[in-house]
Amino acid sequence: MTLFLDVNAASKLVSRLGVSEFMFGLLAYMEDDFCHWPEFDKSARTAAHSDVGVIELMPVADQVHYGFKYVNGHPTNPLQGLSTVMAFGALSDVSTGFPRLLSELTISTGLRTAVASAMATKALARADSSTLGLIGCGAQSTFQAIALHCLVGIQEVRLFDIDADAIDQVAMHLSAYPALTVIKAASAKACVKGADIVTTVTADKAYATILTLDMIEPGMHINGVGGDCPGKTELHIDVLKAGKIFIEHEPQTRIEGDIQQLPADYPVHPLWKVIKGEEQGRDEPQQITIFDSVGFALEDLSVLRYLFEQAVKHNIGEKIDLVPEMENPKDLFGLMLARSQALS
Ligand code: NAD
Repeated sequence: MTLFLDVNAASKLVSRLGVSEFMFGLLAYMEDDFCHWPEFDKSARTAAHSDVGVIELMPVADQVHYGFKYVNGHPTNPLQGLSTVMAFGALSDVSTGFPRLLSELTISTGLRTAVASAMATKALARADSSTLGLIGCGAQSTFQAIALHCLVGIQEVRLFDIDADAIDQVAMHLSAYPALTVIKAASAKACVKGADIVTTVTADKAYATILTLDMIEPGMHINGVGGDCPGKTELHIDVLKAGKIFIEHEPQTRIEGDIQQLPADYPVHPLWKVIKGEEQGRDEPQQITIFDSVGFALEDLSVLRYLFEQAVKHNIGEKIDLVPEMENPKDLFGLMLARSQALS
């Protein structure tokens, strides 16, 4: 049978482990997957664009596991009471194609995107980094702050959003972390001034300019998380030109990342090589490093694998008949008759 994790089951699992423990566990899975990057069958995601948003399919596989995610991005959804980003996905055995797990992936996207930022920050930021400027206080934001606090050791976070209620909400959640100083900033400039790390996680289906060159200081590390779609960016082109840029899957990031503003042959660096220790990340303390995050399917495979193993271990989730299992696999019609008779 297939294990099914809905939003309640995934929330229960995260709370059983604890948010920071979940993130630590997921980080180990993600780093391991990034170290095996060349072994995965990778492709840029398939996107269906409309005037108001995008719906995407994100598959990836190695010789053991196949995973995919369905995810949307509709920045005006909160006005209708819906999340900007909503997702679900599945994990299958490559040897048979049998789906082992069908899972919600909206909460899990928040977790995996934050862990990916933490993984990149650990690899690229200055070791003495302690302050985070976080611009964008929507659904992803609290996850980002917790991951950088728990996995990277950030001691102070400054929050900014054009929506003051959103800032208050994130600050309220972060008050559960007494070792983290939380400051509500009055502007994006005030938010990033003196910060060692800057994360932008805003949503707007536009070429937005959240960070301009005058806001950038030597030695900063930037996680550009919100610019993840053609025509949707956050960093001014001069910011990109001022830094050393790291990316996930280049064919996808060239289309979707902030680097869509740069010429197609502009030099960028694969994050996986830094994670694996094959390439240097930061060259010197004064350098500006940029993780142009768009979210790659391998990060979802990491979270699907981790969810499945932890859910089985903690006996969380429901077993469902997603695909038929029968004594005579050639008698599909017979199974349908038998099931319908049993139900009538
Ligand atoms: P959300 O709609 O819940 O929150 C976005 C926030 O950005 C809102 O609070 C909004 O007020 C704020 N904002 C918009 N323009 C702003 C501006 N100019 N200055 C300051 N704040 C501004 O969206 P979310 O689910 O948190 O997602 C945020 C972004 O991250 C989206 O663009 C989404 O597509 C992207 N995302 C990326 C990844 C990845 O892997 N890179 C994963 C998930 C989501």
